[in-house]
Amino acid sequence: MSKSPTISFIGAGNMASAIIGGMLENGYQGGDIWVSAPDDNHLQSIRKRFGVSVTTDNRHCAQQADMIVLAVKPQVMADVCRDIAPVVQNTRPLMVSIAAGLTADTIDQWLGGGLPMVRVMPNTPSLVGKGAAGLFANDRVSEEQKTMIQSVFESIGSALWVDDENLLHAVTALSGSGPAYFFLMLEALESAATEAGIAPETARELAIQTMAGAAEMAGRSEHDPGQLKRNVMSPGGTTEQAINTFEEGGLRELVKKAYGAAFTRSGEMA
Ligand code: NAD
Repeated sequence: MSKSPTISFIGAGNMASAIIGGMLENGYQGGDIWVSAPDDNHLQSIRKRFGVSVTTDNRHCAQQADMIVLAVKPQVMADVCRDIAPVVQNTRPLMVSIAAGLTADTIDQWLGGGLPMVRVMPNTPSLVGKGAAGLFANDRVSEEQKTMIQSVFESIGSALWVDDENLLHAVTALSGSGPAYFFLMLEALESAATEAGIAPETARELAIQTMAGAAEMAGRSEHDPGQLKRNVMSPGGTTEQAINTFEEGGLRELVKKAYGAAFTRSGEMA
């Protein structure tokens, strides 16, 4: 049997912890995972929690890996990459960046160039195993490596490929920023229901459960969202009144405009 790939994480924050937690729940072994970060106390708690190997030395962490996940903030990425470049130029692992806004080519250049590189745009629900990630691979990434990274991100939600790196801006405006769009809807519904007299905590729970239930139904149903919406509406009923109010108020145009604003901003920040 071939050895499992060794996966190293540089950076041990929220995203790295979420991904490692998901991997361990889905059959990966702590013994195949290395993690590095500057704070040894924090690393020791990561080691105890996940049974992974830890080090404060990024080069040592990189040395072990078939795949390296760069899970640091964009501001420190250049320094981190330049530091590990001599190691990865020798070992040539699959490099994976989850940092927003930094292109595969930019990171590859900091790493000395010529490496297989995947860029991932994850989102915050990854922290509860319900993420939606867009992935882009440069042309040096093999099919086997694509399968390996896809299975890592599927352990914390959905993972879907785009074939043009620029489409990651479109992913950012959809699933990257998207959780906040739904939080806004929750806020607005909760506030409307509270004004109608429901206790705030009851309004919140009903709103959250309704959103979760609608999402689950949309994911499982053979019908498209338009049909599911019509299934809730009866002629002259309450839902029809509300949906007509949304349509007359221009909700679709507003969503398109908000999406476009996020898309444009993502392009400006790259
Ligand atoms: P975080 O601040 O929780 O974690 C960053 C980690 O990097 C920390 O463990 C820190 O100690 C470590 N670090 C700092 N300097 C380092 C160095 N020189 N060498 C090694 N490690 C170092 O951040 P996060 O939320 O986990 O985000 C990580 C990356 O993921 C960022 O690039 C962010 O843009 C991206 N991202 C995060 C989310 C999210 O939902 N949190 C979503 C999309 C993308």
